[in-house]
Amino acid sequence: MGSEEQVRVLMVTFSYQGHLNPILRLAKLLVSKGLHVTIATTEVARKQMLKPKTSITQDTTRVHFEFFSDGLTDDFDRQKYVSSLLESLEAAGSKNLSNLITNLTTEDKKFSCIITNPFMPWVVDVAAEHNIPCAVLWIQACAVYSIYYRYFNQPQLFPSLENPNEAVELPTLPVLLVKELPSFILPSNPIHFNKLMIKFVQNLGKVKWILGNSFNELEEDIVASLASLKPIIPIGPLVSQFVLGKEETVTAASLDKWRAEDSCIEWLDERPPLSVIYISFGSITELSQNQMDSIAAALKNANRPFLWVIRPQEKKSTELPSGFLEATKDKGLIVKWCSQEKVLMHPAVACFLTHCGWNSTLETVVAGVPAIAYPEWTDQLVDAKLLVDVFKTGVRMKNEEDGTLTAEEVQRCILEVTEGPKATELKKRAMALKDAARKAAENGGSSDQNVNLFINEILGTCF
Ligand code: UDP
Repeated sequence: MGSEEQVRVLMVTFSYQGHLNPILRLAKLLVSKGLHVTIATTEVARKQMLKPKTSITQDTTRVHFEFFSDGLTDDFDRQKYVSSLLESLEAAGSKNLSNLITNLTTEDKKFSCIITNPFMPWVVDVAAEHNIPCAVLWIQACAVYSIYYRYFNQPQLFPSLENPNEAVELPTLPVLLVKELPSFILPSNPIHFNKLMIKFVQNLGKVKWILGNSFNELEEDIVASLASLKPIIPIGPLVSQFVLGKEETVTAASLDKWRAEDSCIEWLDERPPLSVIYISFGSITELSQNQMDSIAAALKNANRPFLWVIRPQEKKSTELPSGFLEATKDKGLIVKWCSQEKVLMHPAVACFLTHCGWNSTLETVVAGVPAIAYPEWTDQLVDAKLLVDVFKTGVRMKNEEDGTLTAEEVQRCILEVTEGPKATELKKRAMALKDAARKAAENGGSSDQNVNLFINEILGTCF
């Protein structure tokens, strides 16, 4: 058997922020265990990485980057025409990736394993073509993997998807309403995502390992319920502090699309412990005017400081209500982007109003910060359910019947999560999960053992 140093792993991903983060963190974890890792992503990411704010370098991290074309021109609007992007990626991108693998392979330099993002299921075929064992890094909750798996393999478990209020009972999951399923499987959703997930499930037979960005203690029953089907191996939580250990290195490892405004950490330093409401909706979700108005009104009335991430908008053109900045200048800070993991770990943060992307969900669990869950689409609906009903570290912020959000509802949630006996319970539970997350990731913990087993299996298949 050879040593880890000789093992070369190729990881393939989209360049979306929520996809790059866990892939990069796993890459660093594997590098810290002596493996050689190359991340292949699309050409559009190269431009993002070439900007001076992106401080990752190949020498310091030993993670290498390679790029392949998605087959579209530079000026193609990839955000607007997602369907065309996905089709072109599968048709042209797969050939380009295959050529890249050929170019990177020599007699004594071969890839021992390809780890792919699940939303590029065709990578599994490219790996098979090159005779390289393939793993998927499932970048959402194991619960969501379980739902997709069962939806495509056991459709009889699901009631009519046309009726949004019907209940769905799946093993080891809380009862979900149809409208709480990942929105990609609802009939109202664009068919290309559905096709993507069908292909993902169909290709599972060719995948040797499904690695989950979660930890056993967080989703134990769900993980156990999949053991006799297509098991998922929890190797997370993939968060920077567990991957790298040192805070300085965490910043250097950033591949963020926007520059983090680090002054917000100094601002947090000046706030009392457990006082600040942190608000962020990830890298894609954009608020409507009604949502922004209601959140702003609640923050203005709240008896607490707040830190709110409002990204430059790409699709909508909502604005803060007039007079809001002036009225809240002593208690609020608005930034375009921040080092979210650092913010959540800061002792001043009391709660997190989140859209429940899986990275944000895990990051708040790891930080022991209770959440106000306000999901929008895709897996976020399930993550919100997990936070509230399974992890019991959050409350759910709800829209009215007509789909609008009221300031009273935002206020109700802020109070519930920060004051009174329920808030105390939520914090206690959040701290217990924080501790469990640390234990899972440390030497000899459940996820650490799973990573080591995975590496040993790669070593076993390549020598
Ligand atoms: N994030 C960040 N700074 C911000 C907002 C978000 O670094 O100001 C990071 C966050 O830590 C997470 C990622 O962006 O790792 C967002 O991923 P998530 O899965 O939560 O949501 P998505 O953006 O995919 O909807």
